[in-house]
Amino acid sequence: LGARRRVGEQKKYELLGGLLPPGLDDQSCDSRHQSVHYRKNMTRSPTPYLIMRLRQQEILQRRCGPGTEPYTRASQRLRSGQKNVDAVDGCSYLVLLSHRGLGNRILATVSAFLYAMLTDRVLLVDRGKALGKLFCEPFPGTTWLLPLDFPLEGYKDLGEEAAESYENVTLGNNTGPSSEHRFVYIHLDHAARAANRLVYCDDHLQFLHRVQWVFLRTDSYIAPSFFLNPVHQKELDRMFPRKDSVFYVLSRYLLHPTNGVWRMVTRFYDSYLKDADERLGIQIRVWDGDRPFQHILDQILACTAQEHLLPAPGVVASAGGAFAGARGRSKAVLTTGLNGWYHDSIQEMYRRSPPASGEVVSVHSHEKHQRFFQVEHDMKALAEMYLLSMTDQIVTTGWSTFGYVGAALGGLTPYIMMKPKNRVAPNPPCVRSMSMEPCNHGPPYFECTRKEYHKVFHTGNTVPHLQSCEDIPWGVKLT
Ligand code: GDP
Repeated sequence: LGARRRVGEQKKYELLGGLLPPGLDDQSCDSRHQSVHYRKNMTRSPTPYLIMRLRQQEILQRRCGPGTEPYTRASQRLRSGQKNVDAVDGCSYLVLLSHRGLGNRILATVSAFLYAMLTDRVLLVDRGKALGKLFCEPFPGTTWLLPLDFPLEGYKDLGEEAAESYENVTLGNNTGPSSEHRFVYIHLDHAARAANRLVYCDDHLQFLHRVQWVFLRTDSYIAPSFFLNPVHQKELDRMFPRKDSVFYVLSRYLLHPTNGVWRMVTRFYDSYLKDADERLGIQIRVWDGDRPFQHILDQILACTAQEHLLPAPGVVASAGGAFAGARGRSKAVLTTGLNGWYHDSIQEMYRRSPPASGEVVSVHSHEKHQRFFQVEHDMKALAEMYLLSMTDQIVTTGWSTFGYVGAALGGLTPYIMMKPKNRVAPNPPCVRSMSMEPCNHGPPYFECTRKEYHKVFHTGNTVPHLQSCEDIPWGVKLT
């Protein structure tokens, strides 16, 4: 890039409201600088308080992160099992373990980052197979990747039964002062036992805060449930006066695709999406296996018709209808999914019968066949999430974390397709989401004031801005 262009980019980038730290304008992460040219202006600005907290977190990450003396001491203590340490050096750690698909992992990462900020911990992420190839380092002058020589044996296999699980250390007979624990493992998989969800209500100052190492495994966007804990409410209110964009703002800060992923994004966007007057994303996730199903195609088309997102093929729009005056306008449709049949069918439909409204519809897909957990496939999948986020309107599939991320990254309020029952397209086929926020699939089913975890009590609607999700009634989302 020419020097003048870089200065221009730097200026725009500062206009992000100071969200990103200075000192990261190297060439190793083009997306950090170039995304302003591809993404819409931020519709929600970070508050000065949040920006100040982000800068504090960066200082903590640098002071205690891998390669520093405090980190070396802390990891030696972990290896040796030395107790009674009380977070010497003022450094304590949250290690996020890699779990499930890419959408799950991204939701977990953003949630873990917020939890680390709320509890003054250094966030370290287990890279799994691909993390380092997917995202740039977010914090200047340090790494967020858990070192490969991390000294705790078997940490990747920690599960609900572990002696160190929150349930076992708080409810079992092996309690004792928290500083007695070498580490604590938080298990917040969507199907975690109720007792493990008690951690959502942990009065951090009394127990967890004296544990130097905390390991977290989750497959969900757990952030909404932090709002249920009275201990965090004041801080969360200061960080996020608006609750409908927590993921959106934090992801703009934290997640920057690597150059390899970003090249896929920009190449595709420039070729197929850039010049269209409007862009529509359709994220298709089929839970019955990735076979072609007519009822799913019917549902997609019923949704796009109901919401006037696509013109009817070969039918004259009524005067004053949604597409009157659309003649010559171009609409680019990006479909994503694991089976190309849906894409091909929609494309073929418009090829055979172009809309009588005169609108020009082109249908594109980035990648039709995917395999789980391979680095290159994760890169392509991430590129697709970003491409979805760059559309103007988006239809997503309920329950899918892939769709949650695609919509929320772009600050898009999706039309969510409900799960079909008995292989019949549901009616209505889709509903407009209440907000751009992802759904938390496994919140606590009790109030923090009572902690009655043996009973089931739905927490949606119990605090302002937390509602039951459209697609999963027992889930909660911020609005
Ligand atoms: P979820 O299962 O829909 O909640 O979302 P995940 O991201 O966890 O999906 C599991 C995996 O399936 C992802 O990691 C991807 O590898 C793959 N996958 C699912 N949907 C898509 C898609 O639309 N495009 C691509 N490229 N991969 C997908």
